[in-house]
Amino acid sequence: MYYRDTYAKIDCDAIAHNLSLLKKQSSKALIAVLKANAYGHNDYWTAKTAMESGCCMVAVSSLDEALSLRKQGFYDQILILGHIRPQDIPIAIEQHVSVSVISAEWLNQVVACCSDLRKLIFHIKVDTGMNRIGLKKIEDVHRAIDLILDHNGIPEGIFTHYACADSESKEMCEQQFYTFKEIISACKYPFKWMHAENSAALLSYEDTLTNAARCGLAMYGISPVKSDLDLHPALSLFTHITCVKRIKKEYVGYGAAFQAKEDCIIATLPIGYADGFLRTNQGRFLYCSHEWIEVVGRVCMDQCMVKLPYMLPVGTPVEIISKHCPVTQMAKDLNTIPYEILCILSDRIPRKIYYHQQEVAIINNRLHDQNP
Ligand SMILES: *Cc1c(COP(=O)(O)O)cnc(C)c1O
Repeated sequence: MYYRDTYAKIDCDAIAHNLSLLKKQSSKALIAVLKANAYGHNDYWTAKTAMESGCCMVAVSSLDEALSLRKQGFYDQILILGHIRPQDIPIAIEQHVSVSVISAEWLNQVVACCSDLRKLIFHIKVDTGMNRIGLKKIEDVHRAIDLILDHNGIPEGIFTHYACADSESKEMCEQQFYTFKEIISACKYPFKWMHAENSAALLSYEDTLTNAARCGLAMYGISPVKSDLDLHPALSLFTHITCVKRIKKEYVGYGAAFQAKEDCIIATLPIGYADGFLRTNQGRFLYCSHEWIEVVGRVCMDQCMVKLPYMLPVGTPVEIISKHCPVTQMAKDLNTIPYEILCILSDRIPRKIYYHQQEVAIINNRLHDQNP
């Protein structure tokens, strides 16, 4: 349930459609990347859609995110792409959550606190140029494989991450891929999964060695690179007018940052920066009743004001992210990237989930409305 007329619509059919396009584009297995509550789309429903669309597993950033999925009843394979504290490894084992080897030191600590890894699944992260996490030396990769096997773990996968897959020049990708390939051939271990590509690489720099790709943004319907694929954005964001007034040449909002040049009509919307609708939206245009309406004055924590071309009734819907106002445009206007816009949408915004053309759930975390 929710009681404020601002919500995000999540179209799982769009996610399924995007995954089917990506599957046609690439012969590889797809790992659905669901970190940050599936880029704001709701982790559980995205995970469910991804597995029903044939993904081989899902990936998250932390143990908390993995446990969130388990708590909601998701039982397929989950890989943690980031760091997990060595002392929390028993929880990963118990919950059947796969983990990434992020450094030699980390793996030493893991086997020190857990001598029997009880078939825990590992993917070895290779740092080929991001300089974030991962092993750089072939000796370290060899040693990781041995240590995992010696302690009854399973070295199921090996992976790396591209730093510049979304840039025009593929030079950095080529260098990183070359390094990755060298390491894979040197370690002569039959990994079940080898993966390097993210959305941008999947769409613009596909290699012939790896057999899986980690897909985030493109699955949500947004391409990080120029692409001919007919991806459908899965998230849209709506609010409704709560208050309308005629003003004279008056000021609007905090700091009197906007002054009407003539008599005009001001409407109030129940969305603000605490929802992830950033203050830098001041001066941008939203879509309402076939008109573009300007956000005037400062965006407040819970509300903002817009200038209307003519009187519209309270309750009129306003589109913030939609076909008319794509998140890519919003990101450009706000000098950021779609990833950031999507994942800062706060949990104060209920998510209405649509699947198989039906509304299947309304998730309002503030009221602890959880998935099954
Ligand atoms: C987030 C992430 C991805 C997915 O990236 P997209 O650009 O959204 O496809 C893939 N791999 C890793 C390691 C990530 O952190």
